[in-house]
Amino acid sequence: MTDYKLYINGEFRESSDGRTFNAINPYDRTVLAVLPLASLNDVRDAISSARHAFDSGVWSNKSREERSVIIKQIADKVKENSAYLQELLIRESGSTFKKAKDDLYLTYRAASTFAKYALENLDEKLDISKQGVSENILVREPVGVVSAIIPWNFPLQMAMWKIAPALAAGCTIVLKPAPETSVTALELAKLIDQTDLPKGVLNVITGDAEAGEEMVTNPMVDKVSFTGSTEVGRKVMKLASSNLKKITLELGGKSSSIILDDADLDLAVDGSAYACYFHMGQCCVAGSRLITTDKIHDEVIDRLKTKLSKMKIGNPMEKDTDIGPLVSESQLKRVLNYIELGKKEGAELVFGGSVPEGFTGYFVEPTLFTNVTNVMRIAQEEIFGPVLSVMKAKDENDAIRLANATQYGLAGGIWSRDREKALNLARKLRAGTVWINEWHLLNDRAPFGGYKQSGIGRELGIEGLKEYTELKHIHIDEILDRKKKFWYNVTVPEE
Ligand code: NAD
Repeated sequence: MTDYKLYINGEFRESSDGRTFNAINPYDRTVLAVLPLASLNDVRDAISSARHAFDSGVWSNKSREERSVIIKQIADKVKENSAYLQELLIRESGSTFKKAKDDLYLTYRAASTFAKYALENLDEKLDISKQGVSENILVREPVGVVSAIIPWNFPLQMAMWKIAPALAAGCTIVLKPAPETSVTALELAKLIDQTDLPKGVLNVITGDAEAGEEMVTNPMVDKVSFTGSTEVGRKVMKLASSNLKKITLELGGKSSSIILDDADLDLAVDGSAYACYFHMGQCCVAGSRLITTDKIHDEVIDRLKTKLSKMKIGNPMEKDTDIGPLVSESQLKRVLNYIELGKKEGAELVFGGSVPEGFTGYFVEPTLFTNVTNVMRIAQEEIFGPVLSVMKAKDENDAIRLANATQYGLAGGIWSRDREKALNLARKLRAGTVWINEWHLLNDRAPFGGYKQSGIGRELGIEGLKEYTELKHIHIDEILDRKKKFWYNVTVPEE
């Protein structure tokens, strides 16, 4: 068990009141590490260190090239240490070997992408030739001190989706990982400490909702960038409104995978299973609703059952494991409660639904419900586990209507051989990301975020970078003769 400490102002230190919490390995319920629980004083120290670093200009006054070099150093540190981080990630979160490998690669890739974006000059000159003799410049400036709060499902990737663009924009940061996955966040802090990033620019504190609420309300913070559940997101928005902080919210989802009659069923069924069961369904973009027409419904279900029966439930350290444990006991209880609820609501359980035998960790079988209707809670609420709800649609338009009839709008997908038809339907889906014949694939240059109650704002891409900036308009007037000024003629009588 390594000794972990809070990372504040470039130093590693204990929690000021000595409180700790345990990181549990979800595969065997053993204690993986003892972590410091940040006190309110620690959170305030971290925020004031980020404030001081920002106001001193030690980071924001660096050239774009200098910032880019340091963000690339961070990317390289992640790459050099990816085998070690990957193993820890599996131990702390139950991520399968394959998923943890993805997480590490995408963490590295996000840092590399924003190292490149850091070089871009986002300022613009407006063409106002018809409006007189003046110059209008739009300047993008760093928004300031950022509170970054992240969930446990893709901990390193989510951390880098916030750290890298915030640094590229010139901001300073306090990062709080979820308690379940704080080990890798503090390991990341150790690696970043070895780069040339000036002290105080990044601070990492481990704590619970109390620490999170201080990060959201503290007047020294300019922006809150939150990723987590819609429920907590609503609370964060309310709290951040007390001093009108800028916010980005990346929240929950209940995304629909729509298989059209003309789809390649080998691809569509494999893809829909991947959409839902990857990382045991603990993905914000999980395709946890499957919509088909009557015509192909039974064949899709038969194929899905065959696919699920071949999935290997097991030790997440083994390379061929498809289904590992859920992240925590509370997550296991939540998923089992939803499975019971689905049965009570009248859905038909056609695969899984139980805790598999022979494991001590938080395992649940991949689970499939048919005869689900859109009013059922298992069709509407984010279960965040390996549970797929299948619904029937009358036709393509009905499929889109069903897919859009949720409070969420994070993602969706269409499986079809007809490119134009699929594209046309994709435009009708009210979601931030729509895949056609694909799922889970994200591009760091394409913005990611939610419609409706799946969020506010975007991460990734230039749009994601701009979320960490303020926009200033500078007007330079070429007319220096006071009497020729418009305001002079309006407000001062002619002599
Ligand atoms: P969560 O909302 O419970 O917690 C997220 C983070 O918020 C954690 O760090 C937690 O400690 C902190 N927190 C909890 N209460 C808080 C409060 N009152 N004030 C401030 N911070 C508080 O979510 P989770 O269980 O860690 O993660 C799962 C959720 O995250 C799912 O809903 C999933 O869809 C969502 N998610 C969304 C995206 C996205 O990009 N849209 C990505 C990953 C996960």
